[in-house]
Amino acid sequence: MDLANHPCFNAKMRGVYGRVHLPVAPRCNIQCNYCDRKYDCVNESRPGVTSAVLSPHQAMAYLEYVLEEVKNISVVGIAGPGDPFANPDETMETLRLVREKYPEMILCLATNGLGIGPYIDELAEMNVSHVTITLNAIDPEIGSKLYSFVRHGKRVLGPKDGFKVLLEKQLEAIIRLKEKNVTTKVNTIIVPGINDGHIEAVAEKMAELKVDILNCIPFFPNEGAKFANIEEPSKSDVTEIRKKAAEYIPQMYHCKRCRADAVGILGQENGCQINEKLQECAELPVICGETRPYVAVASQEGVLVNQKLGKAEELYIYGRRDNGKIYFVETRKTPEPGSGMQRWEDLGQMLGDCRALLVAGIGDNPRMVLKKKKIDVLELDGMIEEAAEAVFEGHSTNFMVRRDIKACNHRNPMAGMGCG
Ligand code: SF4
Ligand code: SF4
Repeated sequence: MDLANHPCFNAKMRGVYGRVHLPVAPRCNIQCNYCDRKYDCVNESRPGVTSAVLSPHQAMAYLEYVLEEVKNISVVGIAGPGDPFANPDETMETLRLVREKYPEMILCLATNGLGIGPYIDELAEMNVSHVTITLNAIDPEIGSKLYSFVRHGKRVLGPKDGFKVLLEKQLEAIIRLKEKNVTTKVNTIIVPGINDGHIEAVAEKMAELKVDILNCIPFFPNEGAKFANIEEPSKSDVTEIRKKAAEYIPQMYHCKRCRADAVGILGQENGCQINEKLQECAELPVICGETRPYVAVASQEGVLVNQKLGKAEELYIYGRRDNGKIYFVETRKTPEPGSGMQRWEDLGQMLGDCRALLVAGIGDNPRMVLKKKKIDVLELDGMIEEAAEAVFEGHSTNFMVRRDIKACNHRNPMAGMGCG
């Protein structure tokens, strides 16, 4: 692995090597006032769209195709469409899978920095060598104008308190990344009238923290975002700002503000075949030859299927070993309420590698969305291990069907004709 082959961090390589972004991270933990996530993550500062969101296993199937079709890919990155660490399970699992299968690849991440802290040790162990943090201000007065909220743990903080926490986490992350010898880039979005007079101060601070390169990116007005009516900075203003910043820290001049699903040489558009493959990998129940390896469970304690989907803040994920033993894989946080049907669409994406969801109760909307995504929904009472085993073996789960459901059996696809 030659780290100098990263086309974004080494301008000489921009026309030689390409990168592929795996769009596995749909959620975000902050709201930047220049972003409308119907369009995309602007961590990399371009309001494009990702054609699809992939689960980690879907992303692997897609990556295999991309690496066969597109030559000279040296970097696999995760840059949204939300924030990688608002989706840490998907992000870390994808990185682990890529590192295991393609040890020669440069691994890269772009994040707002809020949630990366607990993962830095493992990222360094996996040799994730390049990380970008979008940091737009170091002054609380200015910073609080840039964000509407910051979700920190279970608390949602307003602009002032939120920025304080965000900045603290960003600075901590940069220091720790540098301690671990991770090449660190900072993206700073130049927003006219908000932080355009403040970039020099950011550059000075980033130089002090030994950040490797600063990418001053012109703001792009995003329809639907709070800053939709602010105009893009002029080219001459951007040049002047970069010139001043360059007195402190090396600058990136060739950023293309890429999509969260960008593939190939910087600036080249994704071909139709790539886009079609992305859709295919996101939708197919059998992912490019690999059956869905997991079962998701709503449980209060990880022993019984005893939680209703609407109440479940997280789902337990189980797999089956070659010897038939059921094993616990991880927990995945469920999308927060408040976004209507989008919540269930996000859930469906999140469970893209699961063949079934076992719950104590579920509403019609999520059931319909999951059915469309070919995820079996089973309403049960009982031991997780027993139920998961039955699902993996293709056996009936009638003996565990919830009594209230049995009485009006029209929902459980495994309940059979004789039920009730
Ligand atoms: Fe949008 Fe990225 Fe900001 Fe989240 S971090 S609000 S996805 S630009
Ligand atoms: Fe590289 Fe900029 Fe594209 Fe990110 S957005 S992949 S830094 S060119």
